[in-house]
Amino acid sequence: DAPPPVLELRGVKAAYGKIEVLHGVDLAIPRGSVVALLGANGAGKTTTLSVASGQMAPSEGDVYLAGRRVTGASASALASAGLCTIPEGRGVFRTLTVRENLRMATYRGIDLATVEDRAYGIFPRLGARRGQVAGTLSGGEQQMLSLARALVTEPAVLLLDELSMGLAPMIVDDLYQQVGRIRRQGVSVLVVEQFARTVLGVADVAAIMAHGRITSVGTPSEIESELSDAYLGAS
Ligand code: ATP
Repeated sequence: DAPPPVLELRGVKAAYGKIEVLHGVDLAIPRGSVVALLGANGAGKTTTLSVASGQMAPSEGDVYLAGRRVTGASASALASAGLCTIPEGRGVFRTLTVRENLRMATYRGIDLATVEDRAYGIFPRLGARRGQVAGTLSGGEQQMLSLARALVTEPAVLLLDELSMGLAPMIVDDLYQQVGRIRRQGVSVLVVEQFARTVLGVADVAAIMAHGRITSVGTPSEIESELSDAYLGAS
């Protein structure tokens, strides 16, 4: 039998107060793959990530991590089980240096030297800026730092929300090249993006979301033909 997906949502409904915004979402992240979740503003992409990462409980349906039902488990329990989220807006400590930010990733008994070796191996640009305060890094470098912090913990699955937000297209290309490398290291990735072009270049599977439902799932080339220019635009 094929192994279960690293992460799976089945029939997930979710609401803010009385307003339901996810109406039965089915989504699977196969082991070792990059899945792109695309859709317009307000489609429900971020809410889907919130349910997947345990930050929000579904009103119906279930979440499975490596075949184990984890519906309702806390975000910290899911994080210890290998699920790592990088939120929209990066989540670096702006007043700390690159090295101090990486030190925050050393909690599982991994020492700082090992963490720095891994991080600068993936992102050499960070190595050259190890003493620089994170708030003064460029947007792309901050995004590299948040990815590096996530990766040194060797997660099984990484959830990325709008990696491209506010970044120049060339930098976004570069970051997605790194996402491709991350996948080759055995990390499965679910990435949410509003604009599709770059992410479709590294994704194995793409899903389109509209009005709280997944409306199509397929290979990037299958999905590309369904996307309007508006989606393919900016990045
Ligand atoms: P975007 O690309 O603009 O970030 P999205 O696809 O990630 O959009 P969500 O952020 O999941 O969409 O929002 C889905 C729906 O839920 C939207 O109609 C939004 O207004 C609503 N919503 C999101 N967060 C809240 C909240 N905290 N309280 C009430 N409604 C919310």
